[in-house]
Amino acid sequence: VISLNKVFTWDYIDTLFTERQKKIAVIAVACNKADDSCFCTSVGYAPDGTEGSDILLKKLKSGGYQAHVLTERGEELVSEYKALFADGDGGEIEPIAKPDELDIDLDKMKKWLDDPANFDHPIWEQMAAKCVGCGGCTFVCPTCHCFDIVDEPHGDQGRRVKNWDGCQFDHFTLHASGHNPRENQPQRWRNRFSCKFKIYPDRFEKKGCVGCGRCIRVCPVNVDITEAMTEISQMTA
Ligand code: SF4
Ligand code: SF4
Ligand code: SF4
Repeated sequence: VISLNKVFTWDYIDTLFTERQKKIAVIAVACNKADDSCFCTSVGYAPDGTEGSDILLKKLKSGGYQAHVLTERGEELVSEYKALFADGDGGEIEPIAKPDELDIDLDKMKKWLDDPANFDHPIWEQMAAKCVGCGGCTFVCPTCHCFDIVDEPHGDQGRRVKNWDGCQFDHFTLHASGHNPRENQPQRWRNRFSCKFKIYPDRFEKKGCVGCGRCIRVCPVNVDITEAMTEISQMTA
């Protein structure tokens, strides 16, 4: 949420986003079970992280949840729905998940990505070799935010529509002239990776990947972003 907020309030205040955001409270649930794709702790986050949440729920061994109220908005929610909350801490909580620690170094990765000599490195071919450009990874990613704006004609009327979009599609950068500056999948894959670990941090001093592993789980051909993260970390002195 913090990541999206930075994008949509940066050089232009996107009221379609901010107006909705004003009306919501974020209730997060601490994670108790990591799978093989999870790596949030390797990119500086945690299964029970509080950043961006108004209330954090932790599962209780006795059933139900322990509620940690983190913001004023969270407090307002609790006072409005008093019947859902009880006093006390509810007893012991279930153990918090422990994802495997990956051998990655975000600073080294950033340094490697900053070097123009690596722009055409063979790793992009290698990572995109199996990729079918389905866009699944960008559509499930909680920090992906790309969109397109289309004018739709309806008789003598029309409407301007904001559509979800993703950089793994071949038409994402296709110009009306037919020219496509990212004409192949390795270039698109390099863009996705650079977006997460170079472009976003350069602009917002934050990481563009939260290590949720969704892109790995959803990929129909088992492309795993952590393979590139590990390899690039090891390539840098
Ligand atoms: S693990 Fe994949 S889906 Fe999750 S934030 Fe990182 S790039 Fe996005
Ligand atoms: S990875 Fe691609 S779709 Fe996702 S935010 Fe970056 S450019 Fe957009
Ligand atoms: S989900 Fe896999 S196959 Fe689909 S675009 Fe992403 S990396 Fe390529």
